[in-house]
Amino acid sequence: MRKKIVAGNWKMNNDLVATNTLISELLKKEKTSNAEVMIAPTFVNLLEASKLLKDSSIIVAAQNMHFAENGAYTGEISATMLKSVGVNTVILGHSERREYFNEADNLLKLKVDKALEEEMKIIFCFGEKWEDRSVGNHFMVVESQIRNALFHLEDENWESIVLAYEPVWAIGTGQTASPEQAQEMHAFIRNLVKEHYNSAISEEVSILYGGSVKPENAKEIFGKNDVDGGLIGGAALNADNFIAIVNAF
Ligand code: PEP
Repeated sequence: MRKKIVAGNWKMNNDLVATNTLISELLKKEKTSNAEVMIAPTFVNLLEASKLLKDSSIIVAAQNMHFAENGAYTGEISATMLKSVGVNTVILGHSERREYFNEADNLLKLKVDKALEEEMKIIFCFGEKWEDRSVGNHFMVVESQIRNALFHLEDENWESIVLAYEPVWAIGTGQTASPEQAQEMHAFIRNLVKEHYNSAISEEVSILYGGSVKPENAKEIFGKNDVDGGLIGGAALNADNFIAIVNAF
């Protein structure tokens, strides 16, 4: 059975003190669902988060990484560096990376390959902009993002992949995709994986929804057949809200 996952993307929020505080609050909350829980703090606080969560079931993920082993890439972080601070999961392809840092499919493919070579797990994000959806191009855009960065992978690589559909128009805007829109796209994605690979892989891969998920709408979205969890931005910065979303399963 495929995994249910709720992952919090903290983005460029929370300094060291705030990281400590939020993690200790999360640890005090009662978790009533069996969803896997992840948080992705900023790079400089990953070591602290790893230490604080060493004995808990909460997984620490990074928000990005570079594709090279090491070298002259000022300001960048490698997979080996992440692993050295206890981080074995990485978010790749977030729309903010694509939009503000020009991360395109060919670069993301290199990052995916490096993460897999380093035996890391990947939350791979993709999603259409409003201008795509408004002219009916959303399926085409999502298909090409997935095809270009992931469809060269071998069957066994898919054990390390989690997909995250994040319509750009719903991220941080308060405007959530309707549960029906999310389900429609998730079913499309699962079918795409089935057609390119097989139904064993498509039925096993977790597909998360991201875009203004809150405690008030999580249950309805997570209730859809092909929605296996969420990638949460704003609401992940508050322990009550985040755990309420986790417990929506
Ligand atoms: C995100 O950044 O991945 C995200 C879904 O943000 P928000 O929940 O704030 O829309």
